Amino acid sequence: MKKNIAIIGCQNGDEGKGKVITFVAPILINLADGQEILSYRFQGGGNAGHTAIIGEKRYALHQLPSGIILAQTYGLLGKGMFIEPKGLVKEIETISSSGIVIDKNKLGISSKAHITLDYHLNDDQSSFNLAEHTSTGNGIKQTARDKVNRTGIRFVEFLDRDLMIKILKEKTFPQGLPERYNSYEQFADSYAEERNFLAPFLALEHEIFNKFDYALAEGAQGLMLDLDDGQYPGITSSNPAHPTHRPDLYLGVFKMYLSSVGIGDRPFVTEMDADLQSRLIQPWGEFGTTTKKPRHIGWFNAVEGKYALESAHLDALAGTKLDDLELLAELGEKIKICVAYEIDGKRYDRWETNFDRRDVLSKAKPIYEEFDSWERTVEKDGQTLTPNAQKYVNSLEELLGKRFSLIGVGPEQKQMIVREQII
Ligand code: GDP
Repeated sequence: MKKNIAIIGCQNGDEGKGKVITFVAPILINLADGQEILSYRFQGGGNAGHTAIIGEKRYALHQLPSGIILAQTYGLLGKGMFIEPKGLVKEIETISSSGIVIDKNKLGISSKAHITLDYHLNDDQSSFNLAEHTSTGNGIKQTARDKVNRTGIRFVEFLDRDLMIKILKEKTFPQGLPERYNSYEQFADSYAEERNFLAPFLALEHEIFNKFDYALAEGAQGLMLDLDDGQYPGITSSNPAHPTHRPDLYLGVFKMYLSSVGIGDRPFVTEMDADLQSRLIQPWGEFGTTTKKPRHIGWFNAVEGKYALESAHLDALAGTKLDDLELLAELGEKIKICVAYEIDGKRYDRWETNFDRRDVLSKAKPIYEEFDSWERTVEKDGQTLTPNAQKYVNSLEELLGKRFSLIGVGPEQKQMIVREQII
């Protein structure tokens, strides 16, 4: 029996997938009965940031899969990823220095993954500081563009200095390298250290995948940023909602409110008023894990939520950060859920073809239902929701048409209400 569980972010990223992954992985490890499980990232690159907390330790992961911090996992950077060698080496060194040995028995890098190089980063960072620039400055769009343009370099090719030079000369920069680099040879040699360090991790993805009975597919970002399903053009350059390798179960992760790093090209219909946001950002820690930029904060959007659930074919749901909403009681505020949109005087409860036009949702006005806030999310047993929190969750479930199997009520791994077994 083989089981592949996909963890999909259903909003704008930062849903708290890291914690859900480190909660689900031990369940699979237990089922695997002494065998290692596979923990793999299937898209994105250093533009992602997962935070995972195990016991007293907090790990910030960017390119590595979150599951790698657990014993009895083998991590794989998959073929759909964009790998930035310098950042990856540093990340491996940082995680290793906290006591997790990352060698070739613990980690593989797909031969097919594309490489983000200095010229991609440079190109991206020139516009990174614009206030509403949606990029994280990690050269992802530039790497994706080269991949689709057939001018990119795969990991296995990057490991061969001479082949890398040949590709740069003949395909990527036939007219000559950008001005700041001296020669093709010198450019390729500037990666000598990373080439050496990363070479042992070269992996044949499908063979690795087939070796494991249990796999955990980790998405980065979220469905509303999906290249195809998201709000084009405010999207990322890969498909967070569509894992590589056929999943047996899609577990969708929703934060119980909304946030988004950059909203430049993407309408944020349920954004809270600026004053309330300014009182929540700091205590909620709503700063990009990768960009450090303050995120925009909004109310839960059930129109988007229902759309995400249907288009990613979710089998089960995890809700996170319900406890964060306690702060609204302290501030004397009600809690809202967006149940529908009003556009040009007409009410919409469900996603429409017109919403896929870039000029429609910017006109949408949210129709809210209001809820009494609560001072404490869970009773002393750590598992029972208090009455107002329960009412809020019930309404979300009614709107989405599906129950939350897991509900996060605190940052720690054990602060999770399990309402039904997902596997
Ligand atoms: P990801 O990219 O989807 O993994 O999300 P991030 O790692 O950027 O954000 C998750 C943050 O929320 C981390 O600091 C987690 O420790 C924290 N977190 C996750 N679940 C919960 C929860 O249920 N309650 C609280 N208070 N924090 C949580």
